[in-house]
Amino acid sequence: MNTLIQEIAAIREQRLRSTAIATLSLILLLSGLFIARAIQWQIEGRVFSIGVCMLLVTVGLIILMRGGSRITASVLGIAGCCLAAGYSAYSSGGLNNPSTAWLICLPLIASLIGGKVAAMIGFVFSLASLSLLYVLQEIYGAPPDLTPFEFRDSQARLNQVGQLVLVFFAIFVLFKQVKRSEDSLSTNLMRLNQEVEARRVAEQQAEQASAIKSAFLANMSHEIRTPMNGVIGVLQLLSRKSLDPESEKLINLGLDSSKTLMVVINDILDISKIESGKLNIEEAEFDLRAFCNDFERHGELLASRKGIDFVFDSILSSQFVRGDHVRLRQVMDNLVSNAVKFTDSGGVGVHLKLNSTADSKFDLYVEVRDTGIGIPEKSLKDLFEPFTQVDSATTRRYGGTGLGLAICKKLIEIMHGAIEVESIPGKGSTFSFHLPLSAPQTCRLEAAESRKRSSHSIAYSSCKRVLLVEDNDINIEIAKAMLSTHDLSIEVAKDGQEALEAVANASESFDLVLMDCQMPRMDGYAATKAIRKLKQAVDLPIVAMTANAMQGDREKCLDAGMNDYMTKPITPESLRAILTTWL
Ligand code: ADP
Repeated sequence: MNTLIQEIAAIREQRLRSTAIATLSLILLLSGLFIARAIQWQIEGRVFSIGVCMLLVTVGLIILMRGGSRITASVLGIAGCCLAAGYSAYSSGGLNNPSTAWLICLPLIASLIGGKVAAMIGFVFSLASLSLLYVLQEIYGAPPDLTPFEFRDSQARLNQVGQLVLVFFAIFVLFKQVKRSEDSLSTNLMRLNQEVEARRVAEQQAEQASAIKSAFLANMSHEIRTPMNGVIGVLQLLSRKSLDPESEKLINLGLDSSKTLMVVINDILDISKIESGKLNIEEAEFDLRAFCNDFERHGELLASRKGIDFVFDSILSSQFVRGDHVRLRQVMDNLVSNAVKFTDSGGVGVHLKLNSTADSKFDLYVEVRDTGIGIPEKSLKDLFEPFTQVDSATTRRYGGTGLGLAICKKLIEIMHGAIEVESIPGKGSTFSFHLPLSAPQTCRLEAAESRKRSSHSIAYSSCKRVLLVEDNDINIEIAKAMLSTHDLSIEVAKDGQEALEAVANASESFDLVLMDCQMPRMDGYAATKAIRKLKQAVDLPIVAMTANAMQGDREKCLDAGMNDYMTKPITPESLRAILTTWL
């Protein structure tokens, strides 16, 4: 756009310059005629004044042709014309002589040479010269006309013809300028339109590329999670069997590795989602005290495995708050697992404080301290950048992708908080963050509490019937095995169509449907919509059990009429939570 504007300005300047050159050349030509007459009539003063005028005009022309300032050239041209016109008026019988009219043409000539500014200067010159001539004539009377008598008529005609030529030239140039401006305006408009169109196409392509990337990510997420559900599920089931110590150790190793792999996969998906602006933060009421208790147990477990201490303390000004507890937990898990990972002796401490703020909201402050290897000062500034690790030796020794802290920072920032770090190499590090949280809405909180109470009081029993809708054989086995520990009666449907028929024809109604989303024949969304149309299934809890974990997948499930959503790999804990809520 800027280059276009510069080009337009350059074209305009070029045009003004060529007009100025043409005007000065015309003045030179007319002056040539006048000086020839003045020489012929031997009127020395006139020869001198027109001679100086020609000299000034010639200098102006040279300046213009060498690319010099248009204003300087126009001032020279105007001054020359003024001089010639002034003297010519004086030597041709005073103000009533046609020569005076040259002075009136001056602003026009000036505008052709130098544009607006020069036109103003020309006008001032004209006015000043005419006033001066008028005053002189008033004081000293009209000067005698030096033109030989027999030539006075032809002299006057020459003056008039000269003026007419100039006026005609000015009108011609102005029309031409207007025409050219219109032409170049439409050309530039066309170019501008082409540029806008090109940008629109580029934008469309970028949007398409982003949509393809999102679809690819969603697909990868699905494709990776489905087999990982199988791997982790099988290992989890195996670990429950009574095994010899060697097999148990190998299975636990397998489980640890697959969980690590899931962390890496989730991190890569998270960072892609964040970078493409597709990460949604969900706000819901949650019990911060229960959250802390759960987190404390998790931290203790991590630290005890490494043989280091773990201390957790919290000060809460409210038990219930509103925010995204899943993302909060993700950030805290990351900081604590880093602290444990990089600490070989001593321990890790977590301090959590919930303060009320003036606008009846909350400020959550979390501090994770460790007595680990610490971080050199020079590495601190890039620590929250993706794929940043302090050095390759650390990477070799401790592993990791360098994504965890980048995700933490972005998550905290999306939730309008701020994270920082302080560290002394060899002594330890302290990561801390502030996060604004909202106050819970009272009625919803009460409802949540009563739901919680009722869910505790209704313990599900063997009479509960669960319909498992899943097309993948391995995943069916795993889900069945996990469900079997809960004393439920389980029926399996291998696609949406079978599920619909099972619900429609069931002699005894189901209490819960666990629904996979991507299936042949009829997918989970279509099946749910069809099931919801059945009279007996209006209130039947349907929970998505899917490998789709991208933004919008949860909404898609809820929109189709499902009640809840659980991502694969399914863990015994996530399954238990779902069963507790819905049975
Ligand atoms: P990862 O741990 O997967 O490599 P992170 O983004 O979580 O990725 O951490 C990036 C780097 O920051 C780590 O590789 C490590 O060098 C450094 N780091 C993070 N937390 C700590 C800590 N508590 N103590 C020392 N170094 C740390």
